[in-house]
Amino acid sequence: MTTDYVELNRTGDKMPLRGFGCWKIDKKDAEDTIYKAIKVGYRLFDGACDYGNEAECGRGINKAIKEGLVKREDLFVVTKLWNTFHGKEHVKSACQRQLKDWGLDYFDLYLIHFPVPLKYVDPSVKYPPEWYVPGTNNTLSYECSPMHECWAEMEKLVVDTKLVRNIGIANFNCQAILDLLCYAKIKPAVLQIELHPYLPQENLVKWVKEQGIHITAYSSFGPTSYVNLTESGKSHPSLLEHEKVKQIADKHSISTGQVLLRWALDREICVIPKSVHEERMKGNFEILNIKLDKEDNQLLDSLKSNQRFNDPMVYGFNLPLFE
Ligand code: NAD
Repeated sequence: MTTDYVELNRTGDKMPLRGFGCWKIDKKDAEDTIYKAIKVGYRLFDGACDYGNEAECGRGINKAIKEGLVKREDLFVVTKLWNTFHGKEHVKSACQRQLKDWGLDYFDLYLIHFPVPLKYVDPSVKYPPEWYVPGTNNTLSYECSPMHECWAEMEKLVVDTKLVRNIGIANFNCQAILDLLCYAKIKPAVLQIELHPYLPQENLVKWVKEQGIHITAYSSFGPTSYVNLTESGKSHPSLLEHEKVKQIADKHSISTGQVLLRWALDREICVIPKSVHEERMKGNFEILNIKLDKEDNQLLDSLKSNQRFNDPMVYGFNLPLFE
């Protein structure tokens, strides 16, 4: 494989297939981490209001631009609309707040983080708002903000205000996408989902691609990010240390992380691993010249268990989003 990007529908923008995830980067490390990642060669950054570090990540980007390492147009900055801002009167201001935090005047891709409209929380009360509205005693407070209204506002960000170049979705299933495609004037450019050999979601991937929508995989290493968050994250064997993944890594003299990322790349799926360690950052980026063979793929296919780790249900939110 020689290209490391895909062209997005409508704009033809080139989205790098190798990106860098910003979840769980400590605020104090974020500026330096993003700056280092740019030096390593990453050009796509995947952030979110919910990650609570957009301003710090933005500083890393702006430092690199200021020093002439990259130009803004070399970068592909992705971020996400949080659940409490789905109301039609809140989409634009949420995006504007995020742009201000990043210190940018446009995003390359703006995703709806979850198809879950939650009650609005004013940023002066709590930001990022997270899942629970303050004072609600840990139950989710939904808001009747229909997706067609939210999507129309997302479209305005592209067409009217030009705050974003492309729009997309995350954690949507086939039913939610089918409905969205009925009214969307601008089709989503990207669907971002949890995807790894335990949860390959091959039917969804195939169908979504047939709609002209690209896929970004998150949590490529499976349970690694969830070890401290959920029981399933703790109890499921790490993919990075899985015997079968090790076997493939040893055969090609590469790391298990590289095996897992290359597996996704071979499916033309964008990956966004996160690491604050420079060596791992480099390893996760140097995956273009790896060739996995049929045997390797069969071994990886045999890991399928449909185990999902990023599930609101297992966080105790009583929201069976994926059932
Ligand atoms: P990941 O699969 O990138 O795993 C990250 C963990 O693996 C970290 O603990 C890191 O230290 C470790 N790691 C990274 N490279 C390694 C290597 N080579 N060897 C050993 N350990 C290594 O997990 P993730 O953070 O869940 O997902 C990546 C990105 O996806 C996030 O940063 C975020 O941008 C995005 N994401 C999106 C959603 C969503 O709902 N849309 C949900 C989760 C994550």
